[in-house]
Amino acid sequence: MLSLTPSQVRLGWSATNKAEAIRLVGQVMVESGFISPGYVDSMLKREQVSGTFLGHGIAIPHGLPEARHLVLQTGVVVVQFPAGVVWSEDGHAHLVVGIAAQSDEHLQVLANLTGVLDDEAQAVALASTLDAAVIIQALQGSSALPEQQDAPAFEGLSLQVLSPSPYGLHARPATTVVEVVRRFRADVTVHHEGRQANARSLLSLLRLGARGGSTLTLTAAGDDAAAALLALQEAFVVGLGEEPLAARALAPESVPAAVLDYEGTLVAGLSASPGIAAGPVWTFQRERLEVEEWAADAAREHQLLESALAGAAAELRQLYEGFLQKAGAQRAAIFKAHLELLDDPEMLRESHGLIDTGLSAGASWSRVFESRAQALAAMDEPVLASRAADLRDVGRRVLRPLARVLEGEPTFPDHPVVLLAEDLAPSDTAKLDPAMVLGLCTAGGGTTSHTAIIARSLDLPAVVALGPSVLDLRNGQHCILDGDAGVLVVKPSQRDRAKAAHQRERIRLRRKEEHLERHRPAITLDGRRVEVAANISDAEEASKAVDAGGEGVGLMRTEFLFLDRDEPPGEEEQLDAYLTMVRALNGQPLILRTLDIGGDKHVPYLSLPAEANPFLGVRGIRLCFEREDLFRTQLRAILRASMEGPIRIMYPMVAMPEELAKAQAITESVRREVGADPVETGIMVEVPSAVMMAEQLARNVSFFSIGTNDLTQYLLAMDRQHPVLASHADGLHPAVLRMVDLTVKAAMKAGIWVGACGGIAGDPSGAVVLSGLGVTELSVAIPSIPAVKALLRGISMADAEDVAQAALECGNAAEVRGLVRGLLARKGAKA
Ligand code: PEP
Ligand code: MG
Repeated sequence: MLSLTPSQVRLGWSATNKAEAIRLVGQVMVESGFISPGYVDSMLKREQVSGTFLGHGIAIPHGLPEARHLVLQTGVVVVQFPAGVVWSEDGHAHLVVGIAAQSDEHLQVLANLTGVLDDEAQAVALASTLDAAVIIQALQGSSALPEQQDAPAFEGLSLQVLSPSPYGLHARPATTVVEVVRRFRADVTVHHEGRQANARSLLSLLRLGARGGSTLTLTAAGDDAAAALLALQEAFVVGLGEEPLAARALAPESVPAAVLDYEGTLVAGLSASPGIAAGPVWTFQRERLEVEEWAADAAREHQLLESALAGAAAELRQLYEGFLQKAGAQRAAIFKAHLELLDDPEMLRESHGLIDTGLSAGASWSRVFESRAQALAAMDEPVLASRAADLRDVGRRVLRPLARVLEGEPTFPDHPVVLLAEDLAPSDTAKLDPAMVLGLCTAGGGTTSHTAIIARSLDLPAVVALGPSVLDLRNGQHCILDGDAGVLVVKPSQRDRAKAAHQRERIRLRRKEEHLERHRPAITLDGRRVEVAANISDAEEASKAVDAGGEGVGLMRTEFLFLDRDEPPGEEEQLDAYLTMVRALNGQPLILRTLDIGGDKHVPYLSLPAEANPFLGVRGIRLCFEREDLFRTQLRAILRASMEGPIRIMYPMVAMPEELAKAQAITESVRREVGADPVETGIMVEVPSAVMMAEQLARNVSFFSIGTNDLTQYLLAMDRQHPVLASHADGLHPAVLRMVDLTVKAAMKAGIWVGACGGIAGDPSGAVVLSGLGVTELSVAIPSIPAVKALLRGISMADAEDVAQAALECGNAAEVRGLVRGLLARKGAKA
């Protein structure tokens, strides 16, 4: 039990600033025998790393972990500042709770304060009370003061699991827990060190503060409790979808962290993404949202909140799907976690409750998400603290339609800069143009924040947790951002600049070389050519593909022309789009894949019936047969465009020869209608049955393009979006490679060529193995084109074939990747 005596509570004090308040609180802690005086310095430093303001006028200063030896005894003191002390831009602290804790006990104190934090009226009363007993009663007597206790007597089933390592139950794994539980009716509770969380609520799970490797007890009650616990056990066993640390390792090309003896002023932070950037600072600012405090019509406010939530959910689904297509499941996962945050029953209940007290929808929602974000930010667990940015991001997304936007949309730089921000939300980072951002640095944040993850995937150096003083830097001031050493160098000397430039040069030169050579064909050392084409999803991307060295378009996902609108594009609109592409490609081939709607790509205006297993339902070519009107319109536009340039038609999701025959018959009838010449047709090979029937299918098409994304999911029976399974569904699994091998052999027999357009075609290991198996066209994301071409030019096909044959005999994808790394290391190339 938290123990507070009257001598540990001081009333009616004042301080001119935060540092003075912390020193005063520290003095009381020293007098109480809880700390040595040196701990006060650490409390001040802690505020530089992460603020301890919780909201509702309460702050909880405490020292950094490395100063724990200066804690003499675990204890808490409370100092009241009735006039308030400016603590952060978020507010004034009136009640400052100084915490001395040798281990994780402060998390317990934090949980104890939850009752006060959730009750604004009580917090206001405590800020001005003249009676210390009222404060003691509020902190000790509150029902929100759980002691370390055994799990309560429980009637249902229970199970013990370990919180995922190394980062604990943070947003992504907690989202997986919520997703698993939502498949069942059972009430599931997660118990951790005396605290309990509703397993359907992401925030409730995050507030457990469960560190990696700590024990969690799951209890479940209800008719399907046993099944729910079993499913959860399996999800925990595979790490709740978290990548193992090894897989998270930085790119092999990263320079090992070096301590650079800079002469300029160093601001130390944490390295979040390697590399070195030098250039002018540019401060990112988001718009300011202002809400009405009160509203007369509660029923209307309830409705407004619901529609703002629905709008935000739709935006997030769109972001999720876009990222899933373009950047893969790992990067898309954050938007799924955001969707879960929106669906949090506790936040919704509280917001609606506040509306009933007369507050507007905007004021209610912002109070609820802000107070939670502040509580998260104050947590000592960096992974959880960095999730405050996620919660604020999603909170503001809902708030925007309920508020007045005072400073317009955030502006992004139009010249290359080192971007500086207090913290960046994932959706801000997603909007950045990598060409205009040399590096990222943030005052707050953590190394596992999504800013860091995205910075790594965009190959941008990044340093986080630099402290608020960096925000004082002037725009345009020159600096060096050293992502390896985790420092920002302000006012760098000439020597500093030269040293940083030398390091940066090595990587830049390699990229530049690749870029300069991007229009050279990918011909291996022994003279074999592999075409490298682009995957695109809109008309404008065709010219970008050419600029990047793409040898045509190997996959245009035409369904993207049908998303995010209220009705399908008509024949003329489609014709315009296809002609724009044909013209941009200037004689290079354009493979238009006909509509692949269904599965994960929803088109609400088509009012398609809901399916239990959409990936196994009416998807791709099957939908085109159901909606022949759409198919024919699309074919008319494609065939008319084919009169201006080399277009090939590719049918998606073909599982059997009769589907191909039917698609071709419809195409032929449309071709006669529009009077076009015959065009080459091919199929996506992405369903295992198509591989097994490849010999027959090959007789009737001009080409195959292997869709390894779907082929992997259907072959390994792992949903490509599944948060737990997606990381295991690696297209380099030998089972998938054997399918590729069968497909290529069938194609060779029929004399047709085989391409690949799934994600592994642009992965260095995938590019080598697929080429070695006889795939002669790799269609990849635009930014990958120069690197894939350079990689293939640096190896011989004989080597690639040897590795590919050995890969077929491997037991898993990791072994295959190891083989390719070995080959590339021998050749001095980069994987
Ligand atoms: C694939 O399945 O590999 C593919 C390229 O198609 P999509 O990702 O659009 O399903
Ligand atoms: Mg596919």
